[in-house]
Amino acid sequence: MSELLDLTVAGALARIGAGEFSSDEYFGAWVEAAGGDELNAYLWRADRDPPGTSGDGDLAGVPIAVKDIFCTEGIQTTAGSRILEGYRPPYSATAVRRLGDAGARLLGKTNMDEFAMGSSNENSGYGPVLNPWDRERVPGGSSGGSAAVVAGRLAPWAIGTDTGGSIRQPASLCGIVGMKPTYGAVSRYGMIAFASSLDQCGPLTRDVTDAALLLRVLEGRDPCDSTSVGIEGGVKLPGREDLDGVRFGVPRELAADAEGIESGVSDVFEAAVKLIEELGGEVEETELPHAAHGISAYYVIAPAEASANLARYDGVRYGLREGDGDLAAMYEHTRSAGFGAEVKRRIMLGTYALSAGYYEAYYGQAQRVRTKIAEDFERAFERFDFVVTPTSPTVAFEIGERVDDPLSMYLSDYCTVPMPLAGIPAISIPAGLAPPQGGGPELPVGFQIAGPAFSENAMLDAAYALERAIGFDATPPG
Ligand code: GLN
Repeated sequence: MSELLDLTVAGALARIGAGEFSSDEYFGAWVEAAGGDELNAYLWRADRDPPGTSGDGDLAGVPIAVKDIFCTEGIQTTAGSRILEGYRPPYSATAVRRLGDAGARLLGKTNMDEFAMGSSNENSGYGPVLNPWDRERVPGGSSGGSAAVVAGRLAPWAIGTDTGGSIRQPASLCGIVGMKPTYGAVSRYGMIAFASSLDQCGPLTRDVTDAALLLRVLEGRDPCDSTSVGIEGGVKLPGREDLDGVRFGVPRELAADAEGIESGVSDVFEAAVKLIEELGGEVEETELPHAAHGISAYYVIAPAEASANLARYDGVRYGLREGDGDLAAMYEHTRSAGFGAEVKRRIMLGTYALSAGYYEAYYGQAQRVRTKIAEDFERAFERFDFVVTPTSPTVAFEIGERVDDPLSMYLSDYCTVPMPLAGIPAISIPAGLAPPQGGGPELPVGFQIAGPAFSENAMLDAAYALERAIGFDATPPG
C-alpha cells in the first residue's frame, strides 16, 4: 500500500497502464491514506468513488485533492469561511469539471485561509492546518491544506489558487512543487473570487512532471470566463536535461538586498544558482526597481477587489444567516458572525481605499505601481529568459508566531507578490533544507522561477532540468 503512495502521479499512471495495479486499487489506497489526516488538512473527504466520475480518460481514475475554494456540485464548499458553512453549489468549477472529464476522481476538499486571505492557514474558520515537517509550524497559505496533503502523503497531487503567492509559498514551506500559471491560462469560473484581477488556479505536486501533467488538463479557454485564453499549443511534458544558453536574472531587490531573508534560505538559493551555472545556464544580477513596492500595492488592490467580491455574502443567498426581522440587522449579524478578523480587516481597508475622495490617492496610485512592476519585468525579460528568487524569505514559521502582527505576515509574500501583479507565471520547486533562524530541525526551502506571460512550457523544462540536478528527495519525518 505505502509503495503506491510513494509514486508520483505520472509514475502511477505508467504502472496502471502496464496493468501492475488498477486505478481502483490506487484510488482506494489514497482514500485510506486521506482518512488518516492528522493535519486538519481536509474539510471533506471521499469515502468511496464520488458519483459522476467514470475514471475513463488520460488521468485513468487517479484521485485529486481540491482546495475548498473551488465549487463542487452537491459537495459543501466553504472557502474556509463560516459564512459559507453548509453551502452546496449547484455546479462545479471549470477546473474541477476539466479534471473530471480527464478521468480524475475527487479525493477531498482541502482546508485554507478564509477566502484565500493569509500566508499561514491560521485564518481558516475551521482551524489551522499543521505542517507535516513539524506540527508546531504552519504549512503556509492560503493553499496550506493542498500543500500539506501532498507533502504529508494524504493526496498524490492537488490544486490551489494563487493571488499573491498562495500556491508557491505553501509549496515552498512544505517542500513540494507549486505553480502559478499566467493570468488567463486557467478558467476562474466557479473559483470563489478573492481579487479577480489576480486570482489564478494552479497545481501543487510532488514533482515538475506532475505539475505539467496537471496544468495540461487545467488550462484552456472557457466561454464561462471571458478572461481565460488558455496556453497556445497546450502544455508539453518537460524533458530538458541541461540549461545551455538559458539566461537567468537574479533581481537584487528580491534576493541579495531583500530584507528578512534568512541566511539558511540564502545559502540554499545560492547553491541552486550554482547548479544552474553547472547545467550551462547563464546567471547575472539584474534589477526590478519597483518590486519592493509590490506588497504595498497588493494590499490596496487585493482588499479593494475583495471588498466588492465579498459584498454578496449577505445571509440571503448563501450559507449562514443570523438574526431575523429587520433586514439591515440581519445583514449585519450575518457578516459579523460569519467573517473572521482578517476578512473584516480587508473589507474595511478595501472599502476605505475605494471611497470617494480617497480612490485616486490609494487605488489609482496602487494601479500605477502595478504598471511599473509589470514594466520592470518586461525590461528584465529583454535580457533574460527567467528571473529567479527564493520563494519565501523564511522556512515554515511557528503557529502563532505572526498572528498578532499582520505586517510581518504580509511580508511572507514579498518575493511572490510581484508576479501576479504583472500577470506572469512562476513556479516554486524544493531546493534543499535549512534550519529556521532560531535553530531547530531543518525545513524545506523553495526556489522560484518566473518567466514572461505564457512561457509555461519553457519554464517547466527549465524547472525540470534544475529539479534533476538538485535531486531533492527529503520527506517529512514519520
Ligand atoms: N498571503 C497573501 C494574502 O494574504 C496572498 C494570498 C493568496 O495568494 N491568495 O493575500
